[in-house]
Amino acid sequence: MKRMKQQTGTLYNRRLQWAAALWWILPIVAIGGWFIPQLGWWVPVCMLAPITIAAFHGRKWCGWYCPRGAFFDYILGSMPKRHTPPAWMRGRAFRTGVLILLMGLMTAQLTIAWPDPLAMARVFVLLLGVTTLVGIGLAWVFGARAWCTVCPAGTLAHWVARDRRPLRVVENCRDCRACEKVCAMRLSPHRDSDAVKRDCVKCARCIDRCPVNALAFEEAAA
Ligand code: SF4
Ligand code: SF4
Repeated sequence: MKRMKQQTGTLYNRRLQWAAALWWILPIVAIGGWFIPQLGWWVPVCMLAPITIAAFHGRKWCGWYCPRGAFFDYILGSMPKRHTPPAWMRGRAFRTGVLILLMGLMTAQLTIAWPDPLAMARVFVLLLGVTTLVGIGLAWVFGARAWCTVCPAGTLAHWVARDRRPLRVVENCRDCRACEKVCAMRLSPHRDSDAVKRDCVKCARCIDRCPVNALAFEEAAA
């Protein structure tokens, strides 16, 4: 049995508070990890968590708890969306290619570093630093959350996430596309598309923005 939870702007505000509380973990690990390599072990935790949580709540980790996602939102969120991401960037082939490339590089580096835990932790710090720089570059071109479309952990989560806690158009959509303009994932929340089902990070910004309260997350009944 399903029900629609009552959702208001407070959901989006709560999520903003999480972003404010978490974003600083990214620079601490990415910069501090060069001096305290053990911080790098935070990275595999952040890689496994979105995939695990996706099985129950879709990509909520990416929208609420990922320190890098919080950094993109809180620090880069006001960047203009200069260009529309090309369709291939969201396509299976490109995302799978990025996943295989980065996981392959990481595995090779970890194999070289094995069994030294500090050397392995440094691999994670390096991976985090390089991918964050790529993410900042993508944010400059396509908007703050562009990296989240190609992030390997995000790709794995999006495969797991299908139709978990989906966003629904529940009534009265005027097709004004205000929700589309604010979506950091560059989705069209008012369309019941596969992309929304898999890649929505549950940030609730579109719900907050909709002038007629037409959007809501579907929740499994307790
Ligand atoms: S903002 Fe609301 S009314 Fe406008 S297109 Fe989106 S769901 Fe429809
Ligand atoms: S569809 Fe709505 S809730 Fe999902 S990522 Fe976009 S703005 Fe956030």
